[in-house]
Amino acid sequence: MPHPAIIKDNVAVITGGASGIGLAAAMAFARAGMKVCIADVDQGRLAEAATKLSSVAPATNVMTFAVDVSKAESVAELERAVRERFGGTDVLMNNAGIQPGSTLFGERDNWQRIIGVNMWGVINGSRIFATSMIARGRAGLVINTGSKQGITTPPGDPAYNVSKAGVKAFTEALQHELRHTKDCRISAHLLIPGFVFTGLTAKGRTEKPAGAWTPEQTVDFMIARLEAGDFYILCPDNDVPRALDEKRMLWAA
Ligand code: NAD
Repeated sequence: MPHPAIIKDNVAVITGGASGIGLAAAMAFARAGMKVCIADVDQGRLAEAATKLSSVAPATNVMTFAVDVSKAESVAELERAVRERFGGTDVLMNNAGIQPGSTLFGERDNWQRIIGVNMWGVINGSRIFATSMIARGRAGLVINTGSKQGITTPPGDPAYNVSKAGVKAFTEALQHELRHTKDCRISAHLLIPGFVFTGLTAKGRTEKPAGAWTPEQTVDFMIARLEAGDFYILCPDNDVPRALDEKRMLWAA
């Protein structure tokens, strides 16, 4: 059965919606008959993505918005624009993310940028949209894109790990709050993709490496698990338990 929020004429907003997992989600929501707003910092990609979306949805159901999720004012403008155009939001996917690489003692600006986009982006989106979604009083979803690196925190990219650990902690707090808000029919969910072949992970490759998922596979899995009511949407190619075991053994040695 389709999730009660993912239905024809409902409204989905996807940050980082101009490419990769975000665009695949936008395409899937549009195919379900939803009105879709893709919001992204990359305006060139936004225009290309809108053309793609117009192959599966009428132009009146598609909106694009230039946003920088790290800035609360920019996210507030997005929320207002969606409300003016479509009447409100039913599904919010806080998905924008970057992974430029970091070192523990490397530049503070780089840390701030990574945490600004990945973690503050999710916090800004959730706080601003959930407030108006609760007031709207309908069934709704807030889907935040985390990462297994926010759970297993492998060595090598500490700022990304910290940002995604923050996404996990924030989303857990959000779900707790929503569950304890009177008459609230909105739930929060944490998407933990595996290795998905996108611009973020391609690193010069043009062919999908064996074992990597496509963004579309990830989104199909996500929608099925949303319908099942999962809070943690842990894509099955993840090796979270094994990674945690390895770390435990490493630190015990
Ligand atoms: P992607 O690079 O294709 O998509 C990310 C999008 O976010 C881009 O369109 C980019 O322009 C946008 N973006 C970047 N900074 C922004 C900002 N400040 N404001 C608004 N938009 C901004 O990569 P993807 O793999 O589709 O990543 C989507 C999410 O999935 C990210 O949060 C990423 O960390 C997460 N993730 C990806 C993988 C993977 O294997 N690809 C694994 C785990 C988690």
